[in-house]
Amino acid sequence: MSKGDERNLDHCLKCSTCHTQCPVVANYLAFPGPKQLGPELERLRLARGGKAPFEIDEALNYCTNCKRCDIACPHGVKPSYYNIKNKAKLKGKSLNKFRDWILAHNVWWGKIGSQIPSLTNFGLKFPLTRLSMGLVGVANRHFPKYEKKKVIISKEKKEKKALYYAGCYASYNEPQIIQAAVNILEACGYQVELAPAACCGTPMVSNGLLEEAGKLAEKNTDIFLKYIQQGFKIITTCSSCGLALKEEYAHMLPGEKSNRLRKNIWDLFEILDEEGILPFSSSQKIAKAYYHVPCHLKAQGIGVPAANLLKAIAIKELIIEDSYCCGISGTYGFKKEKYALSMAIGGPLFQDIKESQVPLVITDCGTCKLQIEHGTGVTVNHPAVILENYLKKTQ
Ligand code: SF4
Ligand code: SF4
Repeated sequence: MSKGDERNLDHCLKCSTCHTQCPVVANYLAFPGPKQLGPELERLRLARGGKAPFEIDEALNYCTNCKRCDIACPHGVKPSYYNIKNKAKLKGKSLNKFRDWILAHNVWWGKIGSQIPSLTNFGLKFPLTRLSMGLVGVANRHFPKYEKKKVIISKEKKEKKALYYAGCYASYNEPQIIQAAVNILEACGYQVELAPAACCGTPMVSNGLLEEAGKLAEKNTDIFLKYIQQGFKIITTCSSCGLALKEEYAHMLPGEKSNRLRKNIWDLFEILDEEGILPFSSSQKIAKAYYHVPCHLKAQGIGVPAANLLKAIAIKELIIEDSYCCGISGTYGFKKEKYALSMAIGGPLFQDIKESQVPLVITDCGTCKLQIEHGTGVTVNHPAVILENYLKKTQ
């Protein structure tokens, strides 16, 4: 956290708007909410010379890091960042700490699990595996399937260059998103390379491993800046990865480096919108679908560029809904003690989808997809996977 973040506290007028928008407050009355846990607690700490002579509230563990409080604040305060900082200082139960450490390093399990995906997927259903996971505090719920697929990329050199950053979910669970993004970018005239960076660090941040996340952010930033210097734009299809690179890194590494990175990160559909490129033809539209806006896409403040394209190109009737949180928040919904709360938060979204009677839901976030499929049974796809089918044949 930078000094700028601390000065930002003075903009809090205690209006409670953030409190009313917090999905945890609405479903768990013991949660004090973003105003109290964020700016209020931080002000008290600073008033006491930064020594924190009071215990950090354990309720912080229930903050999902959804960022809806940051989006809601009319004065530009970001309560979630104080929560993240103080969460990292919480002691907590050692078994939960161990489980959180496992979940925070999902990139390792993804790398291993996607080597022989059929074996991993079978193993994850095995009752003994489930029992062991339950013993360390992992919820008994649907897990993402692992998948391995070779991505085909053109070797043709072009003036426009894109470094595509897929993130963990697309890399290890749904590589067809990578292929779809590469095909779309190539149709837009880009020479594409896959980013050699691994996890963006969001699971570490959410699980209180702020120091480790900071080191990873620095390593990734250096990799990205080398490409930016060579004229590459960094493009992602994951809303949480995009938010981490644009916003979270700026809080962990304040300064010129993260500023330069921030200016060169784009969501795939944001860049298409910016450049006004439409490599699609709109024949044979899908009759009806539902678009769920991930909280971390909302927090980027770029609108809904994928939904706008889907509406124009691929879907006759697209219901765009941005008022609900699905409740999974990355690894949060995989924790035994938080599973019921995560499903309760997602409840209104599940109900709305069911009442809409749509055969298809579309969303940019891999974990939102898992939660929505788990809560509704309706198929969920990434917008890149849908829009790839509408690429002009001549491209
Ligand atoms: S953080 Fe923002 S929304 Fe929350 S109480 Fe303060 S001013 Fe209001
Ligand atoms: S980040 Fe989300 S869960 Fe955490 S305090 Fe803000 S609104 Fe509530």
